[in-house]
Amino acid sequence: MDFELNEDQLAYSDMAKAFAENELAPNAAHWDEQQHFPVEVLKRAGEMGLCGLYTPEEGGGLGLSRLDSSIIFEQMAAGCTATTAYLTIHNMVSWMLSTFATDSCKAQWSEALSSGDKLGSYCLTEPNAGSDAASLKTNARKQGDKYIINGGKVFISGAGETDLLLVMARTSGKGAKGISAFAVAADSAGISYGRKEKKMGWNCQPTRSITFENVEIDADCLLGTEGDGFKIAMQGLDGGRVNIATCSVGTAQAALTYALRYLHERQQFGRELASFQALQFKVANMNTELVAARQMVRLAASKLDNKHPDRSTYCAMAKRFATDVCFNICDEALQILGGNGYMQEYPLERYLRDSRVHRILEGTNEIMNVIIARRILIEETNQIL
Ligand SMILES: Cc1cc2nc3c(=O)[nH]c(=O)nc-3n(C[C@H](O)[C@H](O)[C@H](O)COP(=O)(O)OP(=O)(O)OC[C@H]3O[C@@H](n4cnc5c(N)ncnc54)[C@H](O)[C@@H]3O)c2cc1C
Repeated sequence: MDFELNEDQLAYSDMAKAFAENELAPNAAHWDEQQHFPVEVLKRAGEMGLCGLYTPEEGGGLGLSRLDSSIIFEQMAAGCTATTAYLTIHNMVSWMLSTFATDSCKAQWSEALSSGDKLGSYCLTEPNAGSDAASLKTNARKQGDKYIINGGKVFISGAGETDLLLVMARTSGKGAKGISAFAVAADSAGISYGRKEKKMGWNCQPTRSITFENVEIDADCLLGTEGDGFKIAMQGLDGGRVNIATCSVGTAQAALTYALRYLHERQQFGRELASFQALQFKVANMNTELVAARQMVRLAASKLDNKHPDRSTYCAMAKRFATDVCFNICDEALQILGGNGYMQEYPLERYLRDSRVHRILEGTNEIMNVIIARRILIEETNQIL
C-alpha cells in the first residue's frame, strides 16, 4: 500500500494549483460579490481537460481515475470553492452522459461537455422530493418515438445558464424502480426557469428551479433503459460526493494556510499570535483533522476506482466526515483572524459560507448517516474493510 502521490499525480496537482492561482483565486471574491458565473474561465478549464476529468476518453474526456480527479479538484477548490464545486457537478453530468447515453445522444453531447463548450446540470431534487429523492413526481410519458416531460425541479446548480439538463423523471409506478434518466437540451420548448436564488454562499454559480411543461424529447435521449434512472443518478452521486468532499478539503487547506500566515504576522501582548500555545494546539488539531479528511476522501475515491462492493458506503462516510470537519476548520481559521476573519476584505468568511452547503447537498450528512447505518446495522456482514 503506497500513500504517496506518484509523478503523474504530482504533475496534475501542480497544473491545477497553477490554474487555481492564476485564474480562480484572484477573481473569487469579485465573482462572489457580483454573483458572476465565470463561464469564460470554465471554458478555459475545458481546454485543459478539466471539464471531463473522469469522462472516458472515447467521450472526449481525460479518462482519469476518481483519485487523480480528486487531487486536481482539491487544488482548484483552494482557488475558488464555488466555481470548482460547479465544475465537479459538470464533470458528474459529463461522466453520466458518456457512460449511459445512447450513441446518437453521446454523439450530440459527449465531446461538447468534455471540452466545456457546453455545460450541464444535474436535475434530481423536487419541491417535495429532497432527501426522499425516490419519491419524485416529474413524469416522462412515452408517445411514439418521443417522451413528453411534465413537472418541476428545485435548487438546480447552473440552471438557466447551462446547455444540457440531466433529468430524472418517472416513467412508471412508485419508488426508485419507476424512475428513468434523460438528457434534455436546456432550451427545449416548454422549459422555464425560476429566479436566480439568493444564497448564503456559492454565489458565483446560479441556482434556479425548472418547470417542464409538455417538453417533447426524442426517445433516444433516455439514458440506459427505462427504470434505470435512480441507479444511474446514485452512481453519479457516489463520485459527486467524493468531489464535494474534495472541495471541502481544498477550501479548508486554503483557510488553514491563511491562518498560519496570520499567526506569524499579527502581534498581541507584544508577541506574535503563533507564540500562544492555545493557538498552536488549535492549528495542530486543524491540521490533523484536515489530513484525516483528505485521506478518507482519497480512500473513497480509490474504492470507487476499484469498484469495491462497499464503495457507496465509503463515499457517504467520506462526504459526511470531510464536509463536517472541513467546515469546522474554516470556522476555526476565521476565529484565528479575530475581527478581521469576519470582514469581507479577508477570504475566511467566504470559505465558511461556500463550504456550508457541502453538508446539505448531494444528500445531506444525515442521509449519509442513514446510508452508513443501513450498511452496518441491516446488511449481513457488518464489518467494512
Ligand atoms: C445551493 C444548492 C445547490 C443544489 N444543487 C442541486 C443540483 O444541482 N441538483 C439537484 O438535484 N439538487 C440540488 N440541490 C438540492 C439538495 O441536494 C437538497 O437540498 C438536499 O438533498 C436536501 O433536500 P431538501 O432540501 O429537500 O431537505 P429535506 O429532505 O426536506 O431535509 C430537511 C432536513 O431533514 C433531514 N432529514 C430528511 N430525511 C431524513 C431522515 N430519513 N433521517 C434523518 N434526517 C432526515 C435532512 O438531513 C435535513 O436536515 C441543491 C441544494 C442547494 C442548497
